[in-house]
Amino acid sequence: MYYIGIDLGGTNVHAGLVDEKGKLLGQAEIPTPKGAEEVADAITQAARLTAAQAGVAMGDVQSAGLASAGSIDPENGMVLHAWNLGLDHVPLARMVSERLELPTLLENDANAAALGEFVAGAGRGYRSLAAVTLGTGVGCGAVLDSKLFTGFNYAGMEAGHMVIHRGGRPCTCGRRGCWEAYASATGLIRSVREAMERDPDSALWRFAPTLELVNGKTVFDAVEAGDKTAEGVLEGYLGDLACGIVNLINILQPEVLCIGGGISRQGEKLLRPLREVLDREEFTRDSPRRTRLCVAKLRGEAGIIGAALVPVYR
Ligand SMILES: [Zn+2]
Repeated sequence: MYYIGIDLGGTNVHAGLVDEKGKLLGQAEIPTPKGAEEVADAITQAARLTAAQAGVAMGDVQSAGLASAGSIDPENGMVLHAWNLGLDHVPLARMVSERLELPTLLENDANAAALGEFVAGAGRGYRSLAAVTLGTGVGCGAVLDSKLFTGFNYAGMEAGHMVIHRGGRPCTCGRRGCWEAYASATGLIRSVREAMERDPDSALWRFAPTLELVNGKTVFDAVEAGDKTAEGVLEGYLGDLACGIVNLINILQPEVLCIGGGISRQGEKLLRPLREVLDREEFTRDSPRRTRLCVAKLRGEAGIIGAALVPVYR
C-alpha cells in the first residue's frame, strides 16, 4: 500500500510517497505559487513527481494527505486562512482529490508532524506520543492509543495556547500568557532582546551585535561563554518550557514526548534541565513508568510522512 503526503509550506510544496510503515520511497519539492488553483496544481504536480521518482504508478496509491499551516477546517478539507499562501476559504482537499483522482484529507501541520514522529521517528514502537515543535509558535500534536487525537471538531491539541502566566504577554490568539508566547523560538528571541536592552555589557551582544540578529541559538552561545545575563534568560525560558511540558504529561501521560524545531538541536543542553524539572514536578515522578522525553528524530520529513498516513490514523 502506498500513500502520498504533501507538506504545504509558504516557500515550498514538499511531497513524499510512503508505504504503510511510513518508509519514505520518494520525495519531490517545488516552489509554492500564489493563488488557490495554482497551489492545487502545484500539489498535484509534486504528488505525481514523487510517485514517478519512487517508481510507483498513481493507480497503486491509496490516498493523499495534505498538511497545511494557517487556519484550517480538516473536517471539510478547507483552508480557511493561509494569508502567506494567498488562500482564503479554499476547499483544497476536494480540489486536489479531483486532480489526483484520489481520496484526499487535510490536516494541520503540527498534527501531521506528530503522526510522522509516531510512525517513523521518536514514537516508533510505542502506542502514544506527544510532539512539541518550537518554532514561530509552539506546535503540538498527539497520537493516543495509536490514533491521532484531533478533538471532536479537529481543533484539539492547541496546547501552545494554554496559559502559563495569567495576564502575561499578549498572544496572537487574543489571550495573555499563552505557553507559546514564552516557549516558542519567537518567545525566546523576545526574552533575549529584552535582556540585551537591560544589560548593554552582556556577552549576548557578542553573539548578536544587533537585536535583529538574535536567533534561537544566541542565548545558548552566550551561556557557553559564561554570561550571567544569558544564564538568567535561559533559566527563565527552560522554566516556562518545562511548565507546559509537565502540564502536557500530567494530562496525556504519553509514552514519549518529543521536542522538535531548531532549538531542539541543542539536544542534552535542552533536555537535561527539563528532566530536572520533570523529576521534581511531574505528578507521576515516583512511578516506575514515566514519559520518555527526547528530541524529535525526523526533520522536514515528519510532516510529509504524517500527512501521508493521516487517512490511516485519523
Ligand atoms: Zn495564545
